[in-house]
Amino acid sequence: MARFYVLLGPPGAGKGTQAKVIAEKYGLVHISSGDLFRENLKNETELGKLAQGYMARGELVPDDVTIAMVRDRISRPDCKKGALLDGFPRTPAQADALAAMLKEFDSKVELVPLIDVPAEELIERLSGRWTCRKEGHVFHQKFNPPQKAGICDIDGSELYQRDDDKRETVENRIKVYTAQTAPLIEYYSSRNLLVKIDGQKSIDEVTKDLLTAIEKA
Ligand code: AMP
Repeated sequence: MARFYVLLGPPGAGKGTQAKVIAEKYGLVHISSGDLFRENLKNETELGKLAQGYMARGELVPDDVTIAMVRDRISRPDCKKGALLDGFPRTPAQADALAAMLKEFDSKVELVPLIDVPAEELIERLSGRWTCRKEGHVFHQKFNPPQKAGICDIDGSELYQRDDDKRETVENRIKVYTAQTAPLIEYYSSRNLLVKIDGQKSIDEVTKDLLTAIEKA
């Protein structure tokens, strides 16, 4: 049966960084809804134009649009074995929609690791973050600097600062997380799917804890 995991956590918790390592280790597809929106933005698609304003303000793109985009991605043949979802679901309505779509594929969410980082630390993490243009690999000027400034260690492409990593937008993204996404902690915990991971440990230690949690599930 296909295995689907949801990585939950506030913006800047390290979901993208961890998702890349874990997806590779288990041969799972990594689906980042933020990356899908950014790709649409870059290619100037209708979806990208629609999402642009919400993203720039640090708000959520409406559920119906987001759900349709993820559904389309999950339906592709490369997800037959499962996927690691990063940044989706972000509302209880999205979580309900995910459960319904996975049911259609005779599958379900196996586990929801929550990468837990206190709000005070997120602003510093996000404002020092550098992202690679090609694959979205993430670095931090203080906590995880690239070997050569401005260049991705992994694929050599240019590193840039995301527009929505500016301080005002970051603060709003954290508020939006608390109001709209944090209810998913209770949602998944009441379904016995949530496992809390301390996101303040080093990147390697967080990876280890995530792998242990997944192996146990
Ligand atoms: P991320 O890269 O996950 O931080 O997402 C960047 C931005 O894309 C968010 O601030 C939202 O504007 C939008 N976005 C990504 N995923 C979702 C989602 N599941 N629901 C609504 N909006 C989303």
